[in-house]
Amino acid sequence: MNSNENTMKKFDEYVVHSYGRYPLAMKKGQGRRCVDESGKQYIDFGSGIGTNSLGYCDEKWADAVCAQVRTLQHNSNYYYTEVQAEFAEKLCKTAGYKGVFFGNSGAEANECAIKTARKYSFDKYGKGRHNIITLVNSFHGRTMATLSATGQDVFHNYFFPFLEGFINVKANDVDDLKAKLDDTVCAVMLEYVQGEGGVIALDKEFIDAVFELCAEKDVLVIADEVQSGVGRTGKFLAGDHFGKKADITTLAKGIAGGIPMGACLMNEKCSGVLTPSTHGSTFGGNPIACAGGLAVLERVTSEGFLEDVERKAELIKTELKKCSEVTSVSGLGLMIGISLKSKKAGDVAKEALNRGLLILTAKEKVRLLPPLTISDDEIMEGLKILMEILEE
Ligand SMILES: *Cc1c(COP(=O)(O)O)cnc(C)c1O
Repeated sequence: MNSNENTMKKFDEYVVHSYGRYPLAMKKGQGRRCVDESGKQYIDFGSGIGTNSLGYCDEKWADAVCAQVRTLQHNSNYYYTEVQAEFAEKLCKTAGYKGVFFGNSGAEANECAIKTARKYSFDKYGKGRHNIITLVNSFHGRTMATLSATGQDVFHNYFFPFLEGFINVKANDVDDLKAKLDDTVCAVMLEYVQGEGGVIALDKEFIDAVFELCAEKDVLVIADEVQSGVGRTGKFLAGDHFGKKADITTLAKGIAGGIPMGACLMNEKCSGVLTPSTHGSTFGGNPIACAGGLAVLERVTSEGFLEDVERKAELIKTELKKCSEVTSVSGLGLMIGISLKSKKAGDVAKEALNRGLLILTAKEKVRLLPPLTISDDEIMEGLKILMEILEE
C-alpha cells in the first residue's frame, strides 16, 4: 500500500475538493528537494507556486522565523511592532515606494490596490470615475473583486453577480486601450508577465503606451507583481526590466519565503489615500511573516544575487532550446513558460512527478518557477529528467 494513502484518505474526507491534487502527500523539504510520505524524493522546479523563494527551510530564514515565534507571534494592528517597521522600511526602500499596506495573500494585496485606486479618484474627482481596466488573459485572484478583475471568461461562472467596474482591454493592443481609457477610468491594472495566463511578457511598446496615456489623464497604473516580484525575474520588480514604476505595485507569493503575506506598495501620490478605518486586516503584517520577509529581502538584495538569478534563467533557456519538443521558451528570469510541439503539459507534469521532479503548468505550457536559490547542478539534474520525458 502507498504510504501516502492515510493522509490522502483523511484529506479527501474532510478538506473541500476545490483542487485537483496529485496523489501524494508531501512530508518535508530541505533546500531544493522535498520528500513525500513514502520517502520518495523530488527536485523542486515549482517552489510551491513561487512562494518558497529561498527553497525549503533555509537556515537563516528558519532561524529568523523561529526567533520571532518565540518573541511575539502576533498582536493587532492597533499597536506598532518593530519587525513590521523594519520590514516596511526595507521593502519600500528596495522597491522604491513611499508606503505599504500588508495583507495575507495576493488577492488581498490586489483588493487593497483596487480600493486605493477607487478612493484616490473619488477623493480627487468625486463619483463616476471608478472603472478599472484589466487585460484579457490576466489573473488577479479568487476573491469576488479580484475574480471580477481577472480577464478570463472561464473564471466568470457560478458566482454571479460579479463586481461592476472592470473593463477588459486586449493585451498589447494600444488602440483597444485608447478606445476604452475614457473619463470613467481610475486605473489600469496589469501583470508585466502574465503568469497563470501562460507566462507571457507584455510588449514594451504597450507598457510604454499604458504609462504615457495614464500619466496624461491622472489614471493610476497598478502592477500586479504577486508572481513576478521580489527577484523572481532577475530584477527586484519585473517593472525594472521595462524602466517603469507603477503608482501601485502588489506583491505576495515569494515575499516571505513561504509564509502567507501580501503587500500593496504605493507611491507618494497614493500613500495618503487610505485613512483610519477605510481598510484593514487582522493578520496583515503579522510579525512572523515580516520576519520571514526580512530574511528573504536580505538574501535577494545581497551582492550578486539577482544577477545570478538572471544567469541561471539563461542557463535553463539555453538548455531547453536544445530539446526538439520545445517550440519556444517564454517569460522573464526564473518565471519560465515552455511551449511544446506535440506533448500535453499536464501529461508531462504527471510523468515528471513519477520521476522525481516537481513542475507546474500554465494554460497549454509547462511552467517552471524554481526556488531563486537553486544551484546549477540542481538545474541540470532537473532538466535532465524533464528533457528525457520531452524527447520520448
Ligand atoms: C497567484 C496570483 C494572485 C493571487 O494570489 P493569492 O495569494 O492566491 O491570493 C494574484 N495575481 C497574480 C499575478 C498571481 O500570480
